[in-house]
Amino acid sequence: MIYKTMYKHDFKKFLTEVMKDNTLIAPVIKDYDKNKKPVYQFDQVWDYDEIDFNYTKSYSSIKNFFIPYEETLSRFDFSKSQWSQQIEYTIHPRVIFGARSCDVDALLKLDKVLMHGHFPNPYYIARRKNTFIIGLDHEAFEDCFCRSVGSDNVSHGFDVFLTDIGEKYFMKINSSKAMDILSGFELREVTEEDQDDYKRIKSRIRESFTTKVDISDLSNLMDLEFESDVWKKWGSLCLSCGSCAMVCPTCYCYTVTEEIDPSLRTASKKRALYSCNLVDFAEVAGGHNFRPDPEKRLKYRFYHQHRGFVESYDEPKCVGCNRCGKACPVGINPAEIIADLNKEHIMRREK
Ligand code: SF4
Ligand code: SF4
Repeated sequence: MIYKTMYKHDFKKFLTEVMKDNTLIAPVIKDYDKNKKPVYQFDQVWDYDEIDFNYTKSYSSIKNFFIPYEETLSRFDFSKSQWSQQIEYTIHPRVIFGARSCDVDALLKLDKVLMHGHFPNPYYIARRKNTFIIGLDHEAFEDCFCRSVGSDNVSHGFDVFLTDIGEKYFMKINSSKAMDILSGFELREVTEEDQDDYKRIKSRIRESFTTKVDISDLSNLMDLEFESDVWKKWGSLCLSCGSCAMVCPTCYCYTVTEEIDPSLRTASKKRALYSCNLVDFAEVAGGHNFRPDPEKRLKYRFYHQHRGFVESYDEPKCVGCNRCGKACPVGINPAEIIADLNKEHIMRREK
């Protein structure tokens, strides 16, 4: 890792230049909610002034730039008695500006499955390799619990990570590509004063986490509380809408459909994000549904986050952003469910 600083007016020049040859994706205000608070999303920008540098939390995560809601995997054409297949992996080089530590950590978790897993996903890999990531530090929001799950700091998975230290950005430069590009701009050496500012701001960020979630023994607890009424309590509320998985930065379940044109001359194979909370997620041929109740589906979503992934990778899949809790129309959220499981377990032990 190389540490440098850059004045904000120089960083503006850098991003403006980057926009000329790359697609720039950054946080922007998309709408206002019923309390007149801005709704932020990551989207393509064409002008530096469109970027909201003070954005809070984007409604959905940057995951969707790597795993879109829907994508065409391949197209087929039938002519002269022969099928031909077209597959497109390539994308225009892009820069994502403003990713939070938990967003970058979520990408690292997706990399483990979709890049380094048993079945690497070439579509994901092409997008990941052609995306330059610029992270941006921030103080925690009321509902963030990324510190509890170890996602409040990242040391890789990005090209540059910025901390706002006043007139300058403190920059962690993590790739030779980033160093090459940034060298053409006004990079500065880190002074003692910059270091002090950086440490002061990092400690303020650390102290800003108010929501704490105890995951110390959660993967075992998941097994011990498999039949817990906690699942009934929260599951009975679940509408099986799937919104939680759509906005979650680490949920990657999908479905594949094939569409054949009535002329029988063209066809396509499409993949769409899916959710394990949807009613037919565990339905198999013949119509049997292995998880017919919302409580079972909710439980298994949590199992994947805090039990299955831990078993495979020694870390939870959840990065503590609480996007699922914000998107859920009935207020189902991980912090309260995990607190209930911990409480239930203690009560049982004390009986
Ligand atoms: S808090 Fe919710 S949305 Fe965020 S990573 Fe965990 S499960 Fe996904
Ligand atoms: S968003 Fe809430 S109601 Fe919808 S599936 Fe997820 S937990 Fe259930």
